[in-house]
Parts: sequence; C-alpha cells; structure tokens
Amino acid sequence: MTGKVYLVGSGPGGLGLLTFRAREVIDAADIILYDQLPGEEIISSLPESAEKIDVGKYGGCHTMNQEDIEALLVKFAGEGKTVVRLKGGDPFVFGRGGEEMETLRKYGIEVEAVPGITSGIAVPESVGIPVTHRDFASSVTFITGHEDPKKEVSSIDWAWLAGTPGTIVIYMGVKNIPVIAEKLIGNGMSEKTKVAVIENGFRKNQRVTCTVLDELADTAERVGFKAPAIIVIGEVVSLYRG
Ligand code: SAH
Repeated sequence: MTGKVYLVGSGPGGLGLLTFRAREVIDAADIILYDQLPGEEIISSLPESAEKIDVGKYGGCHTMNQEDIEALLVKFAGEGKTVVRLKGGDPFVFGRGGEEMETLRKYGIEVEAVPGITSGIAVPESVGIPVTHRDFASSVTFITGHEDPKKEVSSIDWAWLAGTPGTIVIYMGVKNIPVIAEKLIGNGMSEKTKVAVIENGFRKNQRVTCTVLDELADTAERVGFKAPAIIVIGEVVSLYRG
C-alpha cells in the first residue's frame, strides 16, 4: 500500500487565511515537510502527532535541494504514509508544486494539490492595493524576479511586459531590483510608473515602501529590502494608504 502526498498551500501567513481543506489534511498527516515561508503562526500550529521536517530553503540558503525533497516525498509515500508538503501561498504559483506532482505521478503515487491564497494577490490586498481595478488595470501579470540576470535568453519577455498597461506583480524580486527597473525602463515603461514593495506581508514586521520606477534601485539600496517581498508595479499602487 502506498501512501498519498498532499501539496498544500498555507496562504500568505496566519491561520485566518489557511483553508479548511488545508487544516484538515495537515491535521491528518503522518509526516509534514515544510519550510519557513508559511510563517510562525502556521508552523507552530502543526500537529504534535505528525513528524515534522524543515526542508527550509528560505532566502536562498538551501538546507535541502529540490531533488532531495522530492526523494523524501517518494520514500515516505512508498512506506504507506500520509505526507503533507506544506508551502507558502499556493503550491502551484512559483512553488515548484508542479514539479513535485510530476515526480510523484512518475512513481505512481497518489497526489492531491490543496490550493492556497497566493501572496501576489493577498499581500498587496492587505495594504489596500487591488491587483486589478476597472479604472487602472484590466490585467495582471505575475512574474518571478529570481531569474539570473546574466542568463543570455530571458524567459521573461521584458519588451512585452514594459508595454502592457496592466499591473505587474513580482515574486522573489528583491535581489534583482536594479535589473528589473533597468529592463522595464529600457523597454520603454514610464520612469514615473508607481511601485510598491511589501516585505513580510501578514507578519508583525510588515513594511510597505512606495516609490516610482526610476527611483526603485536607489530606494532599494537605501532601504535594504529583505525577502520575502512582493513588488507591485502599476497605477493600482496609487490606492495604497499608509
Ligand atoms: N507559492 C508562493 C510563492 C513562493 S515564491 C505563493 O503563492 O505566494 C516565494 C516568494 O513569494 C517570496 O520571495 C515573495 O516574493 C513571495 N511571498 C510569499 N509570502 C510572502 C509574504 N508573506 N510577504 C511578502 N512576500 C511573500
């Protein structure tokens, strides 16, 4: 009998935004593999009955690589265990949940993804910034800012992005802020486009910084942004009230 793996999204932080389904599968798990992104409140609520493994690869300092994590999921499920892989936000939004699902399928292991509220929507929302708005943005693009800036062919179409009138939401962008600003301005986006950087959403040390695109890199240097942070670019930022 093989077990089952649940790829569970915790939401952006805090028990209030964890879904009922997530709570249910977490509380029934034999083993929970987690990292620090779900935040203290959720991590400290993990049931005593489960074995808990911190596979934290937070802020770039990997304690366990993706392959090892997937191998553990396969191993535990192979032992007949009910396994939860707990992730911040939604497991399929920049969470590598898709890859884990593929690996588990390859081994014939039953897998269920439990959606979570993604930080790219919820973190701006929590400070009054809607990612879409009838007057300001009819589309929203979610991108990873994590891409190596030296990569010769970017998988992000910066020219298209700079020209799109909607909101841009960037995950994992803190380290690449100067490159992001340069690419957008270089591809014709207005230098005065509004930007908000929201660090540590839903946590006690949350911080919001508003600026404009051509001041973003200097602001980053002065303020010293730290992950996790969501960067929102576009007119919707004008709705922020500090
Ligand atoms: N699957 C997650 C994203 C994982 S990638 C989701 O759907 O939200 C990690 C990135 O998510 C971080 O670098 C940051 O950009 C963003 N993030 C996650 N939680 C956050 C939080 N509480 N506050 C700000 N940004 C957050």
